[in-house]
Amino acid sequence: MSNLNRVNAVNAVANLKGTVPMAAQVAGAENYGEDVFNEDVMREYLPKDTCAKLLDTIHNGAPLDPAIAGDVAHAMKKWALERGATHYTHWFLPLTGSTAEKHDSFLEPHGAKAIMTFSGKNLIVGEPDASSFPSGGLRSTFEARGYTAWDPTSPAFIKRHGNGATLCIPTAFCSYTGEALDKKTPLLRSIQALSISAKRLMKCFGLPDEKVSVTLGPEQEYFLIDKHFYLQRPDLLQTGRTVFGAPPPKHQQLEDHYFGSIKMRILNFMTEVEKELWSLGIPAKTRHNEVAPAQFELAPMFEELNLACDHNMLVMEVLRQVADRNGLVCLLHEKPFAGVNGSGKHNNWSVSYGKINLLNPGTDPHQNSIFLTTLCAVIQAVDKHADLLRAAVTGTGNDHRLGANEAPPAIISIYLGDQLADVINQLEKGEPKSSKHAGAMKIGVDTLPSLPKDATDRNRTSPFAFTGNKFEFRAPGSSHSCADANTVLNTIVAEAFDDIASKLEKLSKEEFHSGLQKILQKIIKTHKRIIFNGNGYNDEWVKEAEKRGLPNARTTMEALKALIVPENIQVFEKYGVFSAKELESRYEVFGEDYCSRVKIEGEIAYEIAASMIVPVVESQYGKVVRDLANAKAAGIKDGVSALTANAKELGKGLEELHSKIAVLKTAIGEGYSKIIPAMTDLRSTVDALEKIVPDECWPLPKYREMLFIY
Ligand code: ADP
Ligand code: MG
Repeated sequence: MSNLNRVNAVNAVANLKGTVPMAAQVAGAENYGEDVFNEDVMREYLPKDTCAKLLDTIHNGAPLDPAIAGDVAHAMKKWALERGATHYTHWFLPLTGSTAEKHDSFLEPHGAKAIMTFSGKNLIVGEPDASSFPSGGLRSTFEARGYTAWDPTSPAFIKRHGNGATLCIPTAFCSYTGEALDKKTPLLRSIQALSISAKRLMKCFGLPDEKVSVTLGPEQEYFLIDKHFYLQRPDLLQTGRTVFGAPPPKHQQLEDHYFGSIKMRILNFMTEVEKELWSLGIPAKTRHNEVAPAQFELAPMFEELNLACDHNMLVMEVLRQVADRNGLVCLLHEKPFAGVNGSGKHNNWSVSYGKINLLNPGTDPHQNSIFLTTLCAVIQAVDKHADLLRAAVTGTGNDHRLGANEAPPAIISIYLGDQLADVINQLEKGEPKSSKHAGAMKIGVDTLPSLPKDATDRNRTSPFAFTGNKFEFRAPGSSHSCADANTVLNTIVAEAFDDIASKLEKLSKEEFHSGLQKILQKIIKTHKRIIFNGNGYNDEWVKEAEKRGLPNARTTMEALKALIVPENIQVFEKYGVFSAKELESRYEVFGEDYCSRVKIEGEIAYEIAASMIVPVVESQYGKVVRDLANAKAAGIKDGVSALTANAKELGKGLEELHSKIAVLKTAIGEGYSKIIPAMTDLRSTVDALEKIVPDECWPLPKYREMLFIY
């Protein structure tokens, strides 16, 4: 395929039309969770008392009894072998942001024969060594061993691949001394912290002890392009984004892709993705075309946070793999194409206590006061620690969204909607009188039922929006693990819950109501600067936010500094989520990752410009100059001025290329702050040349091809 030129690639993709097979099999409810070692399977395969103990750990957080590991391992092995598995792996989430797996077979030779074994020890801990993962100095290579520890709250599952299958066991990844080397460990610690604080706060409201569940529904955006194009774009292959490429005349201006009818090839892809996800017990629910051409979204039903994070990692993997099988490539980069929307991951987060969602504005005054308290806690938390939320969504890709002119801005603010903002206003002044009930929304068509008005309307520009019964954090990038953002969110809300609880605990029963009101009033007065219901794209907002003292870290390297600010270290240490050492290591790892990625981008931009673009521009320039000389030699006047103008334009482009490539080459040795502007500058020249060099000579697939032909 690599010898196809660009025009052949276009033809190859166009020829696919009509040959796309219908999806082989459509999944149904009966396949849901068939590849998961779920509760039904546990009941069937485990001895009764073992099963009860395991479920107590899963549901109620009871400490895991190591004595049951042998039984569980045996049951898992039996179940997995019946499903064709030959190997098992501890599956974990290292700091690279991807998932990691190292397979071991169940096979154990006994003389001339072999048996399949899997012990309790194999289940509970793994010693994958894994010394090459980034640890930010937490491990020196001579003591590099990392350990994986079984996370029973995220069920084991089977990954199928053509002619085999592997049992995957979700695990936490730690150093010998117990320091977190992954994204799951701090997430689990933060869930525990929030759970303890929520219980303490609910006790103040006179509620009995209940289970706290943090819930997450992550909406996943992605791009799909045909593989023929991808293979001819060294920048996409190396970095996941196009470092050159002129936006085509028509891209997303007409808003005709968003929610448009889904093309058959894509729908078949989506159906296959859903079939796999449903087998893995991942509740994929919504699918639609997104704003940019070739951009799509998948949203699952919300689940418990830890599970939802693992599931989102699998969603990204399944999207990539199914795309590959369908001759497509799934791009999860935050900004694969300049000039059109990038991709994010909307993080819908809430907390439930027993059966009540704490962010559900209730109908009775009691539920309402719990709701308003939770709301105020989130307002306080986000205002106090906006810098940490920003630090949790860094990366080269996301800098193109947050720092640039795209939703949402890098300034973290909270959107409440007019109605709730009004309630908060009233609360600040005295007791709120009107409740959230806005009644029916009249839409002016009598034949249609009136729609119940949602507690919020929509504001797509806000990074942190209240959306009816949950908060939607829109800053995470499409490629990110959900773990980072939610670890921060849980920890800072835990702190706010504790803060409120410590004040409520001092009140007598009689004082409770008026006391609570005073506490909430104070929170609103102190932290209302974080509330912003206007347009987040606006330049005015940047100035206004600065006046309000809200942080605006435009770039990753700026944002990451929040991880090592003493007050922030203190919060994480207080809640046992990160030690100072762990935070320093993350600061180092994420910073290094950023610098390496920018350098790779610079190097590939240099190589493409020097070895692919310059030759075609030179050759075209040479041709025009020869044509010009020939015309002059033949004494022909017509066309000479046009050829001269052409030669000049190409010649000027060539000169610019030459000097800008030289600048980039030097910049590559000087670090990210030099590389980024040099790349941007070079890009402007290359993109302008793309529009005038003969179409058939241009070496890279163009946006109008990649984004529209599939
Ligand atoms: P929209 O695109 O309008 O924001 P979607 O329906 O696509 O909304 O996505 C909303 C997401 O929020 C879904 O994943 C949904 O399951 C999730 N969600 C709903 N309620 C909760 C909740 N209590 N906690 C966490 N997530 C929730
Ligand atoms: Mg949403």
